[in-house]
Order: sequence, then C-alpha cells, then structure tokens
Amino acid sequence: MTDWLFPPRPTPSLPLVGDTRRFPVRRILCVGQNYAEHAREMGADPTKQTPFFFSKPGDAVVADGANPAYPSATGNLHYEAELVACIGEGGAVVGWAVGCDLTRRDLQAEAKKAGRPWDAAKGFDQSAPCGAVTLGDLPDPAGAIALTVNGETRQSGTLDDMILNPARIVEEAGRLWALRPGDLIFTGTPSGVGPLARGDRVVVTITGLETLSFEVA
Ligand code: MN
Repeated sequence: MTDWLFPPRPTPSLPLVGDTRRFPVRRILCVGQNYAEHAREMGADPTKQTPFFFSKPGDAVVADGANPAYPSATGNLHYEAELVACIGEGGAVVGWAVGCDLTRRDLQAEAKKAGRPWDAAKGFDQSAPCGAVTLGDLPDPAGAIALTVNGETRQSGTLDDMILNPARIVEEAGRLWALRPGDLIFTGTPSGVGPLARGDRVVVTITGLETLSFEVA
C-alpha cells in the first residue's frame, strides 16, 4: 500500500444527466477564437489564423451548483460561453456539456502584448465552471448558445457559427495530445464577451443540454 506524504486530492468530477454515475475530469483543453465574430472582437482576423489551443488544470472545473470565487490579481474577469466535448474510452467523445471559460482579460492582454503564455489569464483556480454531462450525440449541432448576466443577454449565437466544428476540434486536439477518458475540450465562444463583478448571476444555455448557472462569489 502506498504511504502518501499527504492525502492525494479527490478526482474532480461532473454529474451525468439522468445517471447517478459521475464523469471524472482529467484535463481541460480549450480552443481559442473559434467563432469569427469573437476573433474580430479580440482584434484578430479570423481569415488569417487557424484556431489554437490552451489548457486549464482539471481541478479548475467548478460543477453546476457551486460558485467560483472572483479570482485574485485581476480587475477584468470575463465570461465566455462554450460547448464542451467530454472524452471517454478510446479518446472518443462520449458526451457534451455547457461550460464557461472564465478569463482574466487584463492579464491576457498583457501576455499577448509581451508574447508570453496565457496560463495566469486562463488556467487559474476555479476558472472552468461546467454543467452536467449529457451522454451521446450532440442534441443539435446548429443549436443556440447563449449567456445571460443577471438576466440580461450578453452572448447569443449558434453552434454552426464555429470555424472548426466540434468533430474537427477533437481531431486537431488528438493530433497534439493523446486524448484520454476524462478530458474536456472547450470549443470556443461566440462574440459578446464581457466583464463580471462579484455577485453577478451567470446562466449559460445550449439547445438540448443541461443549463449551467453560477454566481461569482
Ligand atoms: Mn474561450
């Protein structure tokens, strides 16, 4: 029996819709600027670049019903509504969820300017709120994706606005990493990203998937 220096942390996990089992989270990959309008609002030309990946640690996940803390070291926390592909055995997509890629936009802007990595801007603690996982095929590949803050719509798009569709994103990710059961892939956000304050109530919806809601604590 292994004698640990300190107890290993419990595996982060997400509930499954209509199933008592849980989805154990391994790591979180995210694709950047996968909707043309969002690439434009970030000052990029969507015709001149291919989508790229960054990552968050698996334990950055915050399951629906829990509230992420407003992070340290930022004055500009942003929401990004995203469809999340959930990887199962054999590296294949086993289900789908609604996620929010929380971002320290001020630190990201500094990192971009200096040509530095995005880890502090994207991969911070509790930066990946994610709803319950719906097993099976994506209910509606052209479905609506929307985000409200305190009941006011801030993002509203459709999944077929993506530059790379979910199947292509998973294929690209699989070229760069060996995808393993428990990996989550955030597939990018539509336009309309913006700031959050403490106490804001965020609701993210995608057609056919379980709604994600949380409050910034
Ligand atoms: Mn994102």
